Amino acid sequence: MCYAALPFSFVVRADGRLNKCTVALDDERNQVGRLAPDGSLHLDQDRLRPWLVDNALTDTGCQSCALRPACQGAACPLDRMNTGERPCPDAKRDFKAYLPLLLAGRQEVSVTQ
Ligand code: SF4
Repeated sequence: MCYAALPFSFVVRADGRLNKCTVALDDERNQVGRLAPDGSLHLDQDRLRPWLVDNALTDTGCQSCALRPACQGAACPLDRMNTGERPCPDAKRDFKAYLPLLLAGRQEVSVTQ
């Protein structure tokens, strides 16, 4: 799941603008609010909503997907907004190649704990 889809995750620009995505910095849809000098957040709910919508609740493909617990249909909200298609991550497209990597990472974590 992309951090842009998390409700508490924002990019704070040097001029106080707030973005969700760290890639589409000049995209108008990504200008979701402003951080005021007094520290208050001014959010544009209409701009914010498309980044946070839970697509897995309405997308029947996501509902039957084994990766849904990790992805929630939000691997890339920008991709979904741009194409209207499911933004499946590489792990979904080539799961056989990713599975050994995931297992290796899990073993490393359990060794270091
Ligand atoms: S991997 Fe694709 S189908 Fe599965 S939850 Fe993510 S976007 Fe939906």
